[in-house]
Amino acid sequence: MRKAFIAGNWKMNTDASGGAALAKGIAEATDGIAGESVDVAFFPPFVYLQSVVSAVSSSSIGIGGQDIYFEEKGAFTGEISAAMLKDVGCVYALCGHSERRHVIGESDELVNKKVLASISGGLMPILCVGELIEERKAEKTEEVVERQVRAGLKDVSAEKMAAVTVAYEPVWAIGTGLTATPDQAQEVHAFIRNLLADMYDAKLAEEVRIQYGGSAKADNAAELMGQKDIDGLLVGGASLKVEDFAAIIKAAV
Ligand code: PEP
Repeated sequence: MRKAFIAGNWKMNTDASGGAALAKGIAEATDGIAGESVDVAFFPPFVYLQSVVSAVSSSSIGIGGQDIYFEEKGAFTGEISAAMLKDVGCVYALCGHSERRHVIGESDELVNKKVLASISGGLMPILCVGELIEERKAEKTEEVVERQVRAGLKDVSAEKMAAVTVAYEPVWAIGTGLTATPDQAQEVHAFIRNLLADMYDAKLAEEVRIQYGGSAKADNAAELMGQKDIDGLLVGGASLKVEDFAAIIKAAV
C-alpha cells in the first residue's frame, strides 16, 4: 500500500516572514495528519529554506530544494549542492520541473545527473515529467513521458529507487487552471507504472509513488487521488494558502 505524498512547490513566491507563517500555518492546520497518515513536503525558494525548516521543526513535514546541482562543490556560481541542501535540513529535491526544462532549458541528461546526485547525497528526488500541449495534440504523450522517465532514471539501481518519487505534470496543466481529467491523468500514471515494471520489475513498480501535478486544488484533489495509480499531488498555486493546501492534505487521508 503506497502512502499518499502531497508536495507544495512555492516556486519564486513568498518572503521570509510570509514563508515561515505559511509553513507554520499549514503544519498547525494539519497537525496529526501531515507526516503521519500522509507524507507532506514544502519546496520554498532556496533563501528561505532554513527559516521554513525551523518553522516546521516540531512537525514531520519534510522540506526540499526546488532544484539541485549535480556537482559536489566548486566554481559553479549560483548553484546549490546536495550537501548544502542537507546541511540546512532538506530531505527532498525537485528534479526536472517543467519550468526548469522549458524556461531554463534543462536537458534529460542534466535532470538525470541531478537525480543521481540527490540520491548519492542522501536526498529523495522527485523526478518531474510531462508533455507539452503540442506533444499531447500530436499523440506523443507516451513517447515524451517514456523518454523522460527512462533518461531521468538512467543508472538508478532498483535499490536506489526506494528514494524516488515520480511526478507526472502535463505542462499544459501547470499554472493554467486546466487540470487533466482524472481519466487522462490515470492513463499516464498507469503507463508510467508499466514502464517502471519494464525497467525494473512489477514489485518495484507497485511501490514507487507517482504524483500528479497541474492545477490541483482542494476541489479536485480527492477525485484525482481516487485514481488507482495516483499516489499524491505536486501542487504549485494552491500550496500558497494555508486553507487551500491544508484541504488538499486532508483530501489525501
Ligand atoms: C507545479 O508547479 O508543479 C504545479 C503543478 O503548479 P500548479 O499547481 O500551479 O499548476
